[in-house]
Amino acid sequence: MKRIVVVSTGGTIASGKSSDNSVVADRKGAALIASLHDPLDGIAVAVDDFVSVGSYGLDLTTVHRIVQIIAGHLERDDCDGVVVTHGTDTMEETAFVTDLLIGSDKPVVFTGAQRHAEMPDTDGPRNIADAVRVAAAPAAHGLGTLIVFEGDIHAARAASKTHTSRVDTFRSAGYGKLGEVDSGVVHIERRLPRHVLADNGLAEGVEIVKPGLGSSTAYLDFCAATGVRGVVIDAFGRGNAPRGYADAVARLVAAGAVVIVASRCAEGRTMPIYGGDSGAISLAAAGAIFVGELSAIKARLVLSALLAAGANHGAVVATFARY
Ligand code: ASP
Repeated sequence: MKRIVVVSTGGTIASGKSSDNSVVADRKGAALIASLHDPLDGIAVAVDDFVSVGSYGLDLTTVHRIVQIIAGHLERDDCDGVVVTHGTDTMEETAFVTDLLIGSDKPVVFTGAQRHAEMPDTDGPRNIADAVRVAAAPAAHGLGTLIVFEGDIHAARAASKTHTSRVDTFRSAGYGKLGEVDSGVVHIERRLPRHVLADNGLAEGVEIVKPGLGSSTAYLDFCAATGVRGVVIDAFGRGNAPRGYADAVARLVAAGAVVIVASRCAEGRTMPIYGGDSGAISLAAAGAIFVGELSAIKARLVLSALLAAGANHGAVVATFARY
């Protein structure tokens, strides 16, 4: 018998309609498990209710608490894996932090729903059943944190929410999924390398600045003036930015901030190739560090973990070089 703990945190999967007709997360884990259509043969499920909130309202302190709760369950001999039910809006971030900070080989699987629990065609029960089966599967060992949704198995590192409402919202752009759950059978087709950091918590004060064509440097200058610790620029293409950004990056670095450059493209890597004002070569010369394949929201979490650990400039550069 495999023993899986389901940590419930809210989201659409735990939601129904309230008296004002809005959708609110008001259900506990036991109700989610009671809604499963079929028995999970050979798997015993225990529930740990943490919170019931929309994931758009989570903060880094609460997310780090979720990581600690998962780690605590994984340390126990009577726990073979953990499933986390979570809102889809920020699932890829909490799942990625979990992947980053937990080194255990036991499976951790995030899931949720796009259609709330009172809808006749809610996707929650099937997603939970699939997630529990993946968490109990020997083939899922050592894969890091996963997102299981609509029958697809994704690495947390690669997955993102791509559609606001469709049930097949999670995709792994540039990589593809790791496998599938088909009629309750878990199929793992491939693995991604893992990068685990020591867990020293998550530092506040790392912001994302996303320029558009011809944007001003106002937000970067605001960050420099207000003592922000780190800025991730969600830049164009290979990591290029609007005119004036290189000088603004130099001002930010002089003010003591770490500046990271990611790309708004869903696939591919950043790389300083273009010069001029403010091609990626100019940004690098001004002190910016490039993320490789990571999205801006995931790079922000890596930097937050590194700053919490007191990492120096060299350690930040070395960590992002792995991506
Ligand atoms: N739409 C979201 C969900 O799917 C709401 C949230 O992230 O909590 O759960």
